[in-house]
Amino acid sequence: MEPTAATESITVMNPATGEEVGSVPVDSAGDVAAAVARIRANQPEWEALGFKGRREWLNKLRDWMLDNSDRIADTLKSETGKVRAEATIETPYLADQINYYGAKAEKFIGEQKIRPNSLLAATRKLRLQYRPYPVVGLISPWNFPLVLSMGDAIPALMAGAAVVMKPSEITPLGLNEIIDAWRNEIGGPDVITVVNGGAETATALIDHSDFVGFTGSDVTGKKVMARAAETLTPVSLELGGKDPLIVLEGANLERAANAATWGGMLNSGQMCISVERIYVEDAIYDDFVERLTANVKELRQGADGEVAACDIGAMTMLSQLEKVEKQVEDAVADGATVLTGGKRGEGPGQWFEPTVLVDCKPEMSVMEDETFGPVVTVTRVADEEEAIHLANDTRYGLCASVFGPRGRAERVARRVEAGAVNVNDMIFNMLAASLPMGGWKESGIGYRNGEYGIRKYCRSEAIVSARTLIGRELLWFPYTESRHAIANKLTRLIGGRGTRRFR
Ligand code: NAD
Repeated sequence: MEPTAATESITVMNPATGEEVGSVPVDSAGDVAAAVARIRANQPEWEALGFKGRREWLNKLRDWMLDNSDRIADTLKSETGKVRAEATIETPYLADQINYYGAKAEKFIGEQKIRPNSLLAATRKLRLQYRPYPVVGLISPWNFPLVLSMGDAIPALMAGAAVVMKPSEITPLGLNEIIDAWRNEIGGPDVITVVNGGAETATALIDHSDFVGFTGSDVTGKKVMARAAETLTPVSLELGGKDPLIVLEGANLERAANAATWGGMLNSGQMCISVERIYVEDAIYDDFVERLTANVKELRQGADGEVAACDIGAMTMLSQLEKVEKQVEDAVADGATVLTGGKRGEGPGQWFEPTVLVDCKPEMSVMEDETFGPVVTVTRVADEEEAIHLANDTRYGLCASVFGPRGRAERVARRVEAGAVNVNDMIFNMLAASLPMGGWKESGIGYRNGEYGIRKYCRSEAIVSARTLIGRELLWFPYTESRHAIANKLTRLIGGRGTRRFR
């Protein structure tokens, strides 16, 4: 049921066991307004701390998270149903973000001297400063509850903004734990907070924020943009994908099949950048499919305990499990062949078997719409032209991979329409914090990471400072014949080229 202020609290279930693991109160629209007003009042002091002061606080957060990474992983594991190996990767990622933006923020958004474009502009001192949007609102999904909330909050905080986060109502516990520690264990300034709830809470956050960072489905992303348009609030949207993987003749097939297995099944396929559609050149198709299917059959699915012992965890959200199940059932009814998996796993808990499908048609939902589960489809193609055409024949454009001889694979990669393409590699762009990450087409607007990932939280302010203090400039009033003639000659001299400058 959609949580609203009337439902008062959200009960969180462990998707791997079906057990209740915690609850959080729902924040009403009024609560959101109050939370935003509170941190808005504290933001100027945070901005005034400067890069060094803000970095010191974030370093304390980094150290706390690393010291408590097992405890955080336990919480994430219990609310998402992830396997241990995948629940532990979020805190090191956040530590890396803090180190990166701690070191680079000043270079990316510190005050800059700007070179004048002309002699006229050179008569002034030109500078550019970046000032943060005072309050950044972040709305996040459930598949990586901290990476996709705190991960985006870190550059916003380094920029000097205050941040209000609305985690997914399915997985709010980990983020609430971190904010609780920021306040009560680290003693950090009250410039970052959490509001809990569903669409109602998120909508209130959009209404009160100065910038909205949204990560989630394309369907919700469009609603966020429409709502933000009412107050002309800028947004960045990190949305879904239907990522292709192209395998060319001459590829290292062992690496390609292992990468496809990991990229398609990681986090039970509940990843915006998971591999969904695989296109393989005719000559190597049978060999590749055999290797991939053997790999997927070997994956160990289950709820592991203290030590990492499983590869594939649960499906975090029941409605997504139902959607994936329907996509596979419809595909099979329409002629697709299941090579392994293909159905729900036994309860307790929410499971879908790691699945490989072949004989799929382009118009099937499993080929057109995002599949947020452990399902990959493999399609035989005649050559690279057909592979590129089919890979690009989608409304999404988030990420992609190409496996093959390096030169050819890189050439193909440059023609794929996506925000990032990994060549003979898988999802590695996510770990390269200095590269922008964002979607083309309906996969989003804007970027995280790199200089883009912090500048988006800022407004640029051009500062023009006169070098001379004469009483009256040539271009100012009064307009007289002689002053106008001199101004005209000067502007022609500057703007014209060749002999036209002197006419
Ligand atoms: P979702 O769109 O259902 O929900 C995302 C967030 O939006 C949640 O916090 C939800 O409460 C909130 N929300 C719901 N209705 C809203 C409304 N009307 N206005 C504002 N906010 C609203 O997505 P999900 O199921 O939580 O996550 C899965 C989706 O996220 C997938 O499509 C996946 O591809 C995408 N995703 C994208 C990225 C990326 O970086 N591009 C990363 C992870 C996940």
